[in-house]
Amino acid sequence: MSLTKKIIIALILGVIVGIGFTFVPENIFSAADTYVLDPVGQIFINLIMMIVVPIVFVSIVLGTAGLGEPAKLGKIGIQTITFFLVTTAIALSIGIGLAYLLEPGKAGVFDVSNAEYEAESAPPIMDTLINIIPDNPVNSLASGDMLQIIAFAVFIGLALAVLGEKTSAVYRLFEQINEIFMYLVNLVMKTAPYGAFALIASAIGGAGLGALGSMAMYMVTVILALFIHGAVTYSLAIWGLGKGNPLKFYKGFFPAISLGFSTSSSNATLPVSMKAAQENLGVKKEISSFVQPLGATINMDGTGIMQAVATVFIAQVYAQTLGFTDIIMIILTATLASIGTAGVPGVGLIMLAMVLQQVGLPVEGIALIIGVDRLLDMLRTSLNITGDAACAYIISEREKRLEEKAASR
Ligand code: ASP
Repeated sequence: MSLTKKIIIALILGVIVGIGFTFVPENIFSAADTYVLDPVGQIFINLIMMIVVPIVFVSIVLGTAGLGEPAKLGKIGIQTITFFLVTTAIALSIGIGLAYLLEPGKAGVFDVSNAEYEAESAPPIMDTLINIIPDNPVNSLASGDMLQIIAFAVFIGLALAVLGEKTSAVYRLFEQINEIFMYLVNLVMKTAPYGAFALIASAIGGAGLGALGSMAMYMVTVILALFIHGAVTYSLAIWGLGKGNPLKFYKGFFPAISLGFSTSSSNATLPVSMKAAQENLGVKKEISSFVQPLGATINMDGTGIMQAVATVFIAQVYAQTLGFTDIIMIILTATLASIGTAGVPGVGLIMLAMVLQQVGLPVEGIALIIGVDRLLDMLRTSLNITGDAACAYIISEREKRLEEKAASR
């Protein structure tokens, strides 16, 4: 049986067992969670996280060096950032539009009298941007600061490209290290069905179906917006800009989508996302290695959608009207918030505080949606990584066409 099939079966079993757990006494679930589900899930996540930092570093070095001249890097970089920003803005507009249409905040009785939420201070965006260039790259690698690691790797890759022959042994070394980690990805993925099962059963059993009740409409709005963005925006982009078949794209990328769903972490899914893009979708290695790690760190359309819907939802619950400038403000700050969101579980919700504060909505509103966020995190992470792969695919296809044109001249 193929690994993808095994993962799908594991996901379905995980959902069934997770729902089953919501019917048994709480202490039975917590014993199963503490001694079986959580350890198995955590070991799986640790196995992948173990290879994420080296893979990001090595593949960005190789990707940048592979692009050759700095001018080409600049061109690909600009295309990538433009795609990320435009698709995020579209995602946010879909989220806001649907939240106005379906009015989830008016579809239930919400008790806000004892809603409490201690907003964790989100890192100021300006600081994050200034600190992209690390003053101590070893520190960035040790603490797993993705943006800083990416910046450092781009510099090393540039140097390798410019120095060419002189440093060809180091380039070769990086290629061989890359081989080692790609082998490890395959090895770790053999355990994915067990990890995926444990993570899903634990998430669903822990959230409990009781939490759903009045939150159903909020969940429907977020899920519908995620679905529309995936099925319409990305498909149109893949078809229109990449001249590709969206169905084939989704089929080839499915292993990564299912892993994003079970881990709720763009970072943890990265090794598999890059492998699926390169091997199943034929994305050029140097483009996948540059676009996808960057996207896993800064491009989060799914997270943006949740933040947009949540903001309008909280405004509706607290009966506050949002004006046109507020909507523009939401789009701007949610774009920044999704850039600042780290690709690990649950951070999107922490960054939501920033958006709420910006438009003067009560941060305590987050307490209302916390209960169902774990489940939505699984879906939005799948969309987050799909956006990165769509971007890599489109840029790669365009590059291939340019090369063909040049060759036929
Ligand atoms: N879990 C998301 C991701 O890793 C981030 C978030 O929205 O919390 O992509």
